[in-house]
Amino acid sequence: MVPQASRLNNVRYDIRGPVLRRARQLEAEGHRILKLNIGNTAPFGLMAPDSVVTELVQNIGEAQGYSDARGIHSARLAVAQYYTTLGVPDVGPDDVYLGNGVSELIVMALQALLDPGDEVLVPSPDYPLWTGAVILCGARAAHYRCDEQTGWQPDLDDVASKITKDTRALVIINPNNPTGAVYSRETLLGLLDLARRHGLLVLADEIYDKILYDGAVHESTAALAPDLVVLTLSGLSKTYRAPGFRTGWLLVSGPRREAAGYLEGLELLANMRMCPNVPSQYAIQAALGGPQSITALLQPGGRLRDQRDHAWQKLNEIPGVDCVKPRGALYVFPRLDPDVYKISDDQQLVIDLLEQQHLLLTHGTGFNLDTPDHLRMVFLAGIDVLDDAIGRLSTFLSTYQQ
Ligand code: PLP
Repeated sequence: MVPQASRLNNVRYDIRGPVLRRARQLEAEGHRILKLNIGNTAPFGLMAPDSVVTELVQNIGEAQGYSDARGIHSARLAVAQYYTTLGVPDVGPDDVYLGNGVSELIVMALQALLDPGDEVLVPSPDYPLWTGAVILCGARAAHYRCDEQTGWQPDLDDVASKITKDTRALVIINPNNPTGAVYSRETLLGLLDLARRHGLLVLADEIYDKILYDGAVHESTAALAPDLVVLTLSGLSKTYRAPGFRTGWLLVSGPRREAAGYLEGLELLANMRMCPNVPSQYAIQAALGGPQSITALLQPGGRLRDQRDHAWQKLNEIPGVDCVKPRGALYVFPRLDPDVYKISDDQQLVIDLLEQQHLLLTHGTGFNLDTPDHLRMVFLAGIDVLDDAIGRLSTFLSTYQQ
Protein backbone atom coordinates (compact mmCIF):
# COMPACT_ATOMS: atom_id res chain seq x y z
CA MET A 1 0.00 0.00 0.00
CA VAL A 2 1.29 3.41 -0.92
CA PRO A 3 -1.19 5.90 0.55
CA GLN A 4 -1.68 9.41 -0.73
CA ALA A 5 -0.64 12.36 1.41
CA SER A 6 -3.57 13.67 3.43
CA ARG A 7 -2.45 17.13 2.35
CA LEU A 8 -4.07 16.35 -1.00
CA ASN A 9 -7.45 15.39 0.49
CA ASN A 10 -9.28 18.54 -0.51
CA VAL A 11 -7.17 19.52 -3.49
CA ARG A 12 -9.26 19.32 -6.64
CA TYR A 13 -8.25 20.03 -10.18
CA ASP A 14 -11.35 18.86 -12.00
CA ILE A 15 -10.47 20.51 -15.26
CA ARG A 16 -7.91 17.74 -15.66
CA GLY A 17 -9.63 15.14 -13.47
CA PRO A 18 -12.28 12.42 -13.95
CA VAL A 19 -13.70 13.93 -17.14
CA LEU A 20 -10.33 13.84 -18.86
CA ARG A 21 -9.78 10.27 -17.69
CA ARG A 22 -13.08 9.25 -19.31
CA ALA A 23 -12.05 11.05 -22.50
CA ARG A 24 -8.79 9.07 -22.56
CA GLN A 25 -10.72 5.80 -22.16
CA LEU A 26 -12.99 6.69 -25.05
CA GLU A 27 -9.96 7.53 -27.18
CA ALA A 28 -8.36 4.22 -26.24
CA GLU A 29 -11.54 2.56 -27.50
CA GLY A 30 -10.99 4.27 -30.85
CA HIS A 31 -13.37 7.26 -30.60
CA ARG A 32 -12.32 10.70 -31.82
CA ILE A 33 -13.01 13.33 -29.21
CA LEU A 34 -13.46 17.00 -30.06
CA LYS A 35 -11.57 18.70 -27.25
CA LEU A 36 -12.49 22.26 -26.44
CA ASN A 37 -11.54 21.98 -22.80
CA ILE A 38 -8.06 23.48 -22.48
CA GLY A 39 -6.47 26.72 -23.68
CA ASN A 40 -3.72 24.92 -25.58
CA THR A 41 -2.93 26.89 -28.72
CA ALA A 42 -0.79 24.57 -30.88
CA PRO A 43 -3.40 21.84 -31.59
CA PHE A 44 -5.51 24.57 -33.22
CA GLY A 45 -2.68 25.81 -35.43
CA LEU A 46 -2.01 28.94 -33.40
CA MET A 47 1.76 28.91 -33.19
CA ALA A 48 4.40 31.05 -31.49
CA PRO A 49 5.88 33.86 -33.59
CA ASP A 50 8.93 32.72 -35.60
CA SER A 51 11.11 35.35 -33.93
CA VAL A 52 10.38 33.80 -30.53
CA VAL A 53 11.13 30.24 -31.66
CA THR A 54 14.29 31.36 -33.48
CA GLU A 55 15.68 32.97 -30.35
CA LEU A 56 15.26 29.75 -28.42
CA VAL A 57 16.87 27.69 -31.20
CA GLN A 58 19.79 30.07 -31.64
CA ASN A 59 20.62 30.05 -27.96
CA ILE A 60 20.20 26.38 -27.30
CA GLY A 61 23.97 25.89 -27.11
CA GLU A 62 24.22 28.53 -24.39
CA ALA A 63 21.38 26.97 -22.44
CA GLN A 64 22.96 23.75 -21.23
CA GLY A 65 23.92 24.87 -17.74
CA TYR A 66 21.77 25.94 -14.83
CA SER A 67 20.98 29.63 -14.90
CA ASP A 68 20.62 32.01 -11.96
CA ALA A 69 17.81 30.48 -9.86
CA ARG A 70 15.58 33.44 -10.73
CA GLY A 71 16.35 33.11 -14.46
CA ILE A 72 18.77 34.68 -16.97
CA HIS A 73 19.46 38.37 -16.54
CA SER A 74 18.48 39.51 -20.05
CA ALA A 75 15.03 37.93 -19.75
CA ARG A 76 14.44 39.36 -16.29
CA LEU A 77 15.51 42.77 -17.56
CA ALA A 78 13.08 42.48 -20.47
CA VAL A 79 10.25 41.63 -18.06
CA ALA A 80 11.09 44.55 -15.76
CA GLN A 81 11.26 46.93 -18.74
CA TYR A 82 7.92 45.69 -20.03
CA TYR A 83 6.21 46.54 -16.73
CA THR A 84 8.02 49.86 -16.55
CA THR A 85 6.38 50.78 -19.86
CA LEU A 86 3.03 49.83 -18.30
CA GLY A 87 3.63 52.33 -15.51
CA VAL A 88 4.94 50.13 -12.70
CA PRO A 89 7.54 52.33 -10.99
CA ASP A 90 10.97 51.37 -9.74
CA VAL A 91 11.30 47.76 -10.86
CA GLY A 92 14.40 46.05 -12.22
CA PRO A 93 15.70 42.56 -13.05
CA ASP A 94 16.18 41.72 -9.36
CA ASP A 95 12.43 41.98 -8.87
CA VAL A 96 11.70 39.27 -11.44
CA TYR A 97 11.53 35.51 -10.95
CA LEU A 98 11.16 33.26 -13.98
CA GLY A 99 9.37 29.95 -13.68
CA ASN A 100 8.27 26.83 -15.53
CA GLY A 101 5.00 28.47 -16.45
CA VAL A 102 2.85 30.71 -14.29
CA SER A 103 1.64 27.45 -12.75
CA GLU A 104 4.93 26.80 -10.97
CA LEU A 105 5.14 30.41 -9.82
CA ILE A 106 1.61 30.32 -8.38
CA VAL A 107 2.56 27.35 -6.23
CA MET A 108 5.86 28.94 -5.17
CA ALA A 109 4.30 32.31 -4.38
CA LEU A 110 1.69 30.69 -2.12
CA GLN A 111 4.04 28.22 -0.48
CA ALA A 112 6.33 31.04 0.56
CA LEU A 113 3.38 32.89 2.11
CA LEU A 114 0.88 30.59 3.75
CA ASP A 115 0.58 28.68 6.99
CA PRO A 116 -2.21 26.26 7.83
CA GLY A 117 -5.25 28.28 8.91
CA ASP A 118 -4.45 31.25 6.68
CA GLU A 119 -7.00 32.41 4.14
CA VAL A 120 -6.69 33.74 0.61
CA LEU A 121 -9.38 35.61 -1.31
CA VAL A 122 -9.86 33.86 -4.65
CA PRO A 123 -12.45 34.73 -7.30
CA SER A 124 -15.40 32.47 -8.04
CA PRO A 125 -15.24 31.31 -10.72
CA ASP A 126 -11.46 31.03 -10.76
CA TYR A 127 -8.64 29.40 -12.65
CA PRO A 128 -8.69 26.42 -10.28
CA LEU A 129 -4.97 26.04 -9.78
CA TRP A 130 -5.23 29.05 -7.47
CA THR A 131 -7.69 27.30 -5.16
CA GLY A 132 -5.82 23.99 -5.37
CA ALA A 133 -2.48 25.59 -4.56
CA VAL A 134 -3.94 27.45 -1.55
CA ILE A 135 -5.36 24.20 -0.17
CA LEU A 136 -2.07 22.40 -0.80
CA CYS A 137 -0.53 24.86 1.66
CA GLY A 138 -3.09 23.84 4.31
CA ALA A 139 -4.77 27.22 3.91
CA ARG A 140 -8.36 28.08 2.96
CA ALA A 141 -9.59 29.66 -0.26
CA ALA A 142 -12.32 32.18 0.54
CA HIS A 143 -14.15 32.55 -2.76
CA TYR A 144 -15.48 35.98 -3.62
CA ARG A 145 -18.36 36.36 -6.04
CA CYS A 146 -17.92 37.68 -9.54
CA ASP A 147 -21.28 38.87 -10.80
CA GLU A 148 -22.54 37.61 -14.14
CA GLN A 149 -25.06 40.50 -14.25
CA THR A 150 -22.23 43.03 -14.36
CA GLY A 151 -20.17 41.14 -16.94
CA TRP A 152 -18.55 39.05 -14.17
CA GLN A 153 -16.94 41.97 -12.33
CA PRO A 154 -15.93 41.11 -8.75
CA ASP A 155 -18.60 42.05 -6.22
CA LEU A 156 -16.66 44.37 -3.90
CA ASP A 157 -19.15 44.03 -1.03
CA ASP A 158 -18.79 40.29 -1.19
CA VAL A 159 -15.00 40.54 -1.23
CA ALA A 160 -15.11 42.80 1.85
CA SER A 161 -17.48 40.42 3.65
CA LYS A 162 -15.04 37.52 3.19
CA ILE A 163 -12.08 39.24 4.87
CA THR A 164 -11.17 37.88 8.30
CA LYS A 165 -8.23 38.24 10.67
CA ASP A 166 -6.68 35.23 8.89
CA THR A 167 -6.82 36.69 5.37
CA ARG A 168 -3.34 37.07 3.91
CA ALA A 169 -3.71 37.70 0.21
CA LEU A 170 -6.07 38.73 -2.58
CA VAL A 171 -5.96 36.95 -5.95
CA ILE A 172 -7.05 38.99 -8.98
CA ILE A 173 -7.29 37.18 -12.33
CA ASN A 174 -7.63 39.85 -15.02
CA PRO A 175 -8.49 39.26 -17.85
CA ASN A 176 -10.30 36.37 -16.32
CA ASN A 177 -10.33 32.70 -17.14
CA PRO A 178 -13.04 31.30 -17.38
CA THR A 179 -15.35 34.35 -17.69
CA GLY A 180 -13.45 36.53 -20.18
CA ALA A 181 -14.10 39.58 -17.97
CA VAL A 182 -11.72 42.53 -18.16
CA TYR A 183 -11.95 44.52 -14.95
CA SER A 184 -12.65 48.24 -14.96
CA ARG A 185 -10.20 50.62 -13.32
CA GLU A 186 -12.88 51.37 -10.74
CA THR A 187 -13.22 47.69 -9.81
CA LEU A 188 -9.46 47.29 -9.54
CA LEU A 189 -9.14 50.40 -7.38
CA GLY A 190 -11.90 49.02 -5.15
CA LEU A 191 -10.10 45.70 -4.78
CA LEU A 192 -6.80 47.43 -4.11
CA ASP A 193 -8.39 49.64 -1.51
CA LEU A 194 -9.53 46.53 0.38
CA ALA A 195 -6.03 45.05 0.11
CA ARG A 196 -4.57 48.32 1.41
CA ARG A 197 -6.94 48.55 4.37
CA HIS A 198 -6.41 44.95 5.43
CA GLY A 199 -2.69 44.62 4.70
CA LEU A 200 -3.13 41.92 2.03
CA LEU A 201 -0.54 40.75 -0.46
CA VAL A 202 -1.94 41.26 -3.97
CA LEU A 203 -1.47 38.41 -6.45
CA ALA A 204 -2.32 39.58 -9.97
CA ASP A 205 -2.58 36.83 -12.58
CA GLU A 206 -2.41 38.77 -15.85
CA ILE A 207 -1.49 36.00 -18.27
CA TYR A 208 -4.14 37.25 -20.76
CA ASP A 209 -3.18 40.93 -20.47
CA LYS A 210 -2.84 41.39 -24.23
CA ILE A 211 -5.73 39.18 -25.33
CA LEU A 212 -8.46 41.82 -25.49
CA TYR A 213 -11.43 42.45 -27.78
CA ASP A 214 -13.66 45.38 -28.77
CA GLY A 215 -11.27 48.02 -27.49
CA ALA A 216 -11.20 46.64 -23.94
CA VAL A 217 -8.35 48.17 -21.97
CA HIS A 218 -6.28 46.16 -19.52
CA GLU A 219 -5.00 48.08 -16.51
CA SER A 220 -1.88 46.78 -14.82
CA THR A 221 -2.84 46.14 -11.19
CA ALA A 222 0.70 46.88 -10.00
CA ALA A 223 0.72 50.23 -11.82
CA LEU A 224 -2.46 51.25 -9.97
CA ALA A 225 -0.98 50.48 -6.54
CA PRO A 226 2.69 51.47 -6.28
CA ASP A 227 2.24 51.67 -2.49
CA LEU A 228 1.27 47.97 -2.17
CA VAL A 229 3.33 44.83 -2.54
CA VAL A 230 1.95 43.29 -5.72
CA LEU A 231 3.08 40.10 -7.44
CA THR A 232 2.22 40.21 -11.15
CA LEU A 233 2.29 36.91 -13.02
CA SER A 234 2.34 36.29 -16.76
CA GLY A 235 4.23 34.32 -19.37
CA LEU A 236 4.62 32.92 -22.86
CA SER A 237 1.69 30.48 -22.81
CA LYS A 238 -1.14 32.61 -24.18
CA THR A 239 -0.19 35.90 -25.88
CA TYR A 240 2.91 34.26 -27.39
CA ARG A 241 1.21 30.90 -28.06
CA ALA A 242 3.98 28.80 -26.52
CA PRO A 243 2.40 26.95 -23.56
CA GLY A 244 4.67 23.98 -24.14
CA PHE A 245 7.73 26.12 -23.49
CA ARG A 246 6.56 26.23 -19.85
CA THR A 247 7.85 29.74 -19.29
CA GLY A 248 6.37 32.42 -17.08
CA TRP A 249 7.44 35.28 -14.87
CA LEU A 250 6.60 36.91 -11.58
CA LEU A 251 7.30 40.58 -10.90
CA VAL A 252 7.45 41.93 -7.35
CA SER A 253 6.59 45.61 -7.09
CA GLY A 254 5.78 48.10 -4.33
CA PRO A 255 7.42 48.51 -0.92
CA ARG A 256 9.58 45.39 -1.06
CA ARG A 257 11.29 46.17 2.23
CA GLU A 258 8.00 45.39 3.98
CA ALA A 259 8.09 41.96 2.34
CA ALA A 260 11.75 41.12 2.97
CA GLY A 261 11.00 37.95 4.95
CA TYR A 262 8.51 36.75 2.37
CA LEU A 263 10.91 37.45 -0.50
CA GLU A 264 13.66 35.53 1.28
CA GLY A 265 11.26 32.55 1.33
CA LEU A 266 10.48 32.99 -2.35
CA GLU A 267 14.19 33.08 -3.12
CA LEU A 268 14.70 29.88 -1.10
CA LEU A 269 12.00 28.09 -3.10
CA ALA A 270 13.49 29.41 -6.35
CA ASN A 271 16.88 28.06 -5.30
CA MET A 272 15.45 24.69 -4.33
CA ARG A 273 14.29 24.01 -7.89
CA MET A 274 17.78 25.06 -9.13
CA CYS A 275 16.37 27.21 -11.96
CA PRO A 276 13.56 27.16 -14.51
CA ASN A 277 13.99 25.46 -17.87
CA VAL A 278 16.75 27.53 -19.48
CA PRO A 279 16.33 27.30 -23.31
CA SER A 280 12.90 28.90 -23.33
CA GLN A 281 14.05 31.76 -21.10
CA TYR A 282 15.86 33.03 -24.21
CA ALA A 283 12.51 33.46 -25.94
CA ILE A 284 11.24 36.01 -23.40
CA GLN A 285 13.13 39.04 -24.63
CA ALA A 286 12.16 38.33 -28.24
CA ALA A 287 8.54 37.89 -27.20
CA LEU A 288 8.20 41.06 -25.15
CA GLY A 289 10.41 43.23 -27.35
CA GLY A 290 9.39 41.92 -30.78
CA PRO A 291 6.38 42.59 -32.99
CA GLN A 292 3.17 41.77 -31.11
CA SER A 293 1.64 39.40 -33.64
CA ILE A 294 -1.27 38.64 -31.31
CA THR A 295 -2.81 42.00 -32.26
CA ALA A 296 -3.73 40.84 -35.76
CA LEU A 297 -5.63 37.88 -34.31
CA LEU A 298 -7.79 40.14 -32.15
CA GLN A 299 -9.06 42.60 -34.74
CA PRO A 300 -12.11 42.06 -36.96
CA GLY A 301 -11.06 39.41 -39.51
CA GLY A 302 -8.52 38.03 -37.04
CA ARG A 303 -8.97 34.42 -36.01
CA LEU A 304 -9.48 34.86 -32.29
CA ARG A 305 -11.87 37.76 -32.69
CA ASP A 306 -14.00 36.02 -35.33
CA GLN A 307 -14.03 32.75 -33.42
CA ARG A 308 -15.07 34.49 -30.22
CA ASP A 309 -17.91 36.30 -32.02
CA HIS A 310 -19.07 33.11 -33.66
CA ALA A 311 -18.96 30.93 -30.54
CA TRP A 312 -20.74 33.57 -28.47
CA GLN A 313 -23.46 34.13 -31.05
CA LYS A 314 -24.13 30.45 -31.73
CA LEU A 315 -24.25 29.56 -28.04
CA ASN A 316 -26.80 32.30 -27.40
CA GLU A 317 -28.98 30.82 -30.17
CA ILE A 318 -29.43 27.57 -28.20
CA PRO A 319 -32.74 27.74 -26.28
CA GLY A 320 -32.13 28.25 -22.56
CA VAL A 321 -28.46 29.16 -23.03
CA ASP A 322 -27.09 32.65 -22.51
CA CYS A 323 -23.56 33.83 -22.52
CA VAL A 324 -21.84 37.05 -21.48
CA LYS A 325 -19.62 38.26 -24.33
CA PRO A 326 -15.99 37.76 -23.30
CA ARG A 327 -13.86 40.90 -23.57
CA GLY A 328 -10.57 39.10 -23.05
CA ALA A 329 -8.86 35.68 -22.95
CA LEU A 330 -9.81 32.54 -24.93
CA TYR A 331 -13.03 31.18 -23.41
CA VAL A 332 -16.80 31.44 -23.48
CA PHE A 333 -18.65 30.63 -20.26
CA PRO A 334 -22.31 30.05 -21.15
CA ARG A 335 -25.06 29.65 -18.57
CA LEU A 336 -27.68 26.95 -18.81
CA ASP A 337 -30.90 28.49 -17.52
CA PRO A 338 -31.87 26.41 -14.45
CA ASP A 339 -35.57 26.87 -15.33
CA VAL A 340 -34.94 25.07 -18.62
CA TYR A 341 -32.20 22.61 -17.64
CA LYS A 342 -32.56 20.98 -14.24
CA ILE A 343 -28.93 20.14 -13.65
CA SER A 344 -27.78 19.03 -10.22
CA ASP A 345 -24.35 17.66 -11.22
CA ASP A 346 -22.56 19.55 -13.98
CA GLN A 347 -19.56 17.20 -13.98
CA GLN A 348 -21.99 14.37 -14.83
CA LEU A 349 -23.46 16.55 -17.56
CA VAL A 350 -20.02 17.00 -19.09
CA ILE A 351 -19.34 13.26 -18.91
CA ASP A 352 -22.72 12.52 -20.54
CA LEU A 353 -21.97 15.07 -23.27
CA LEU A 354 -18.61 13.41 -23.82
CA GLU A 355 -20.12 9.95 -24.09
CA GLN A 356 -23.07 10.91 -26.28
CA GLN A 357 -21.48 13.52 -28.55
CA HIS A 358 -17.72 12.95 -28.14
CA LEU A 359 -17.33 16.60 -27.24
CA LEU A 360 -15.12 17.58 -24.30
CA LEU A 361 -16.00 20.79 -22.43
CA THR A 362 -15.43 21.81 -18.81
CA HIS A 363 -18.09 22.14 -16.13
CA GLY A 364 -18.50 25.41 -14.25
CA THR A 365 -18.09 23.96 -10.76
CA GLY A 366 -14.61 22.84 -11.90
CA PHE A 367 -13.81 26.56 -11.65
CA ASN A 368 -15.16 26.76 -8.12
CA LEU A 369 -18.45 28.27 -9.19
CA ASP A 370 -21.06 27.36 -6.58
CA THR A 371 -23.94 26.62 -8.98
CA PRO A 372 -23.98 23.71 -11.48
CA ASP A 373 -25.23 25.81 -14.40
CA HIS A 374 -22.23 26.83 -16.51
CA LEU A 375 -19.90 25.30 -19.06
CA ARG A 376 -16.59 26.55 -20.40
CA MET A 377 -15.59 26.17 -24.02
CA VAL A 378 -12.32 27.36 -25.56
CA PHE A 379 -12.76 29.22 -28.83
CA LEU A 380 -9.32 28.46 -30.24
CA ALA A 381 -10.79 26.14 -32.90
CA GLY A 382 -11.72 27.36 -36.39
CA ILE A 383 -15.30 28.39 -37.13
CA ASP A 384 -16.28 25.08 -38.79
CA VAL A 385 -15.11 23.16 -35.74
CA LEU A 386 -16.90 25.55 -33.38
CA ASP A 387 -20.08 25.15 -35.42
CA ASP A 388 -19.77 21.39 -35.21
CA ALA A 389 -19.17 21.54 -31.45
CA ILE A 390 -22.03 23.93 -30.69
CA GLY A 391 -24.31 21.86 -32.92
CA ARG A 392 -23.42 18.77 -30.87
CA LEU A 393 -24.06 20.65 -27.62
CA SER A 394 -27.41 21.87 -28.89
CA THR A 395 -28.48 18.37 -29.96
CA PHE A 396 -27.40 16.98 -26.60
CA LEU A 397 -29.22 19.65 -24.57
CA SER A 398 -32.43 19.26 -26.57
CA THR A 399 -33.16 15.93 -24.88
CA TYR A 400 -30.87 15.87 -21.84
CA GLN A 401 -32.32 15.30 -18.40
CA GLN A 402 -30.77 14.54 -15.05
N1 PLP B 1 -3.32 31.48 -15.00
C1 PLP B 1 -4.42 31.45 -15.76
C2 PLP B 1 -5.51 32.44 -15.50
C3 PLP B 1 -4.53 30.51 -16.79
O1 PLP B 1 -5.64 30.49 -17.54
C4 PLP B 1 -3.48 29.59 -17.01
C5 PLP B 1 -3.59 28.56 -18.06
O2 PLP B 1 -4.58 28.35 -18.70
C6 PLP B 1 -2.36 29.65 -16.18
C7 PLP B 1 -2.31 30.61 -15.18
C8 PLP B 1 -1.20 28.69 -16.33
O3 PLP B 1 -0.31 29.15 -17.27
P1 PLP B 1 1.11 28.50 -17.56
O4 PLP B 1 0.99 27.77 -18.86
O5 PLP B 1 2.03 29.68 -17.67
O6 PLP B 1 1.47 27.61 -16.43
